[in-house]
Amino acid sequence: MAARASSTGASAENLMRGLFPGARLIVAANRAPYRQAAGLHGEPRWERPAGGLTAALDPLMQRFGGVWVAAQPGSAQELSVPPEEPRYQVEVLGIHPEVYRAYYSGYANSGLWPLCHNLVERAHFRPSDWIAYRQVNRLFAERIAEVARPEDIVFLHDYQLAMVPGYLRGLGYSGPIAHFWHIPWPPTVVLRLLPERRLLLQGLLEADWLGFQTEDSVDAFASAARKELGARVLREADGIRLLYQGRMTSLAAVPISIDAARVEEIARAAVTKERIEKFRAHLGLEDSALLLGVDRLDYTKGIPARLDGFARMLARYPSLQGKVQFLQIGVPSRREIPDYRRLAAAVRRRAQDINRRYGKPGWRPVRLIERNLRLDQLVALYRIADIAVVSSLYDGLNLVAKEYVAARVDNGGALCLSETAGAYQELRDAFPLSPLSPERIAEGLARALFASEEERTRRMTALRAAVARNTIDTWLGRVVQGLRSAVPQLSGENATPV
Ligand code: UDP
Repeated sequence: MAARASSTGASAENLMRGLFPGARLIVAANRAPYRQAAGLHGEPRWERPAGGLTAALDPLMQRFGGVWVAAQPGSAQELSVPPEEPRYQVEVLGIHPEVYRAYYSGYANSGLWPLCHNLVERAHFRPSDWIAYRQVNRLFAERIAEVARPEDIVFLHDYQLAMVPGYLRGLGYSGPIAHFWHIPWPPTVVLRLLPERRLLLQGLLEADWLGFQTEDSVDAFASAARKELGARVLREADGIRLLYQGRMTSLAAVPISIDAARVEEIARAAVTKERIEKFRAHLGLEDSALLLGVDRLDYTKGIPARLDGFARMLARYPSLQGKVQFLQIGVPSRREIPDYRRLAAAVRRRAQDINRRYGKPGWRPVRLIERNLRLDQLVALYRIADIAVVSSLYDGLNLVAKEYVAARVDNGGALCLSETAGAYQELRDAFPLSPLSPERIAEGLARALFASEEERTRRMTALRAAVARNTIDTWLGRVVQGLRSAVPQLSGENATPV
């Protein structure tokens, strides 16, 4: 991600200035927004990991100052960023590699991740991982408690840091705490498989405001807090509040979004037009339609069934053979976990099988690219894909779906979207996909492929309006407003009423 001027954060910035005068942002997330590595000759080299969250929060951090706390295996780092004109601090906690593995690959990614995506058979909860998870969460809390002042906003992120709000209060921190849960919150029957569920719920309930991607997750969390802890659920005009042991916590469904203006800007850029021509020629698209999948190689994304669905479609509509191709970008992910290595191998096998079975000279039905592409490259692919296929089994949101829509400044293309991806709640004009069954996926893809031009344009126009209504700036604004109404006792003289 290159440094750039962005409108991101403009209205969120105004809200924050009005509602939290004098506040700085204290963000905690597993990953840091900047990294410093050694260059070829040992010179410091800056890396800015791409990602929606970083792109959204970095401009706000720059304007308000503050600290971003993150973690990594090995040694700690303290950075003043952005390097060209430092505005805020990044404090990366150095965690012993074994402890980091147990916290991150263990408890978070082999336990909470599959469980929250309802893939219960993949979830493992080892007592030693739980110890490491708590240990790392405690280190986060200690560092935050050192740097945060009561007038600041502490904004915590995701399933790696569920215990941090509780530890922070235990350390005496009394300022406002918001926690955003980026992945689904599971139904209570599923949550009960988690031995430490009550501790996790109690930890989270020490935050003032808890944000989720969907109403389903809000309802599931409220229900779990009531059934597992006896919390009181208060349904109010502006959302749900939970009362537990004298503390009130507000819950809200605020689906995260993308920097839509930035994606559109890339989509319209001259360099993207050149790239589009290059990709079209490379893929041989003169005479065939392109279906595109863009995912981390993660078992929640439903990639094997998707490819099987594509194969079924070829079998069922032989006239499509030679006329369509499927490009799957599969970003290598979490390779230290055996389930992820198996998934990557299964996807590779599927692609080969389909190509062997259906391919002909001059036509390769499936191309699999196992690489992380830059956003500008993705946007060019979005522009040429006749159909974007998002068939997650479960997905907190799915930003790719929104990026595809934002990139279609021509109102063209079609989005096939799993009904179980969080994004479907906002993007109801997508062609729906039922992600488990290859037959249904084949039907869904064919429906989008054979839809009239008029239907495709109508759907895409409505989808674009939905993305425009909720950009990353809108999202941040809603977080700030939600937190402000969750902490009425903070009403400082300067604060503007919500
Ligand atoms: N992405 C990327 N390069 C790639 C593939 C994906 O930068 O080659 C980005 C993509 O633009 C999107 C994010 O990774 O912003 C994926 O987010 P999503 O919510 O779809 O899935 P997640 O990986 O968070 O589960």
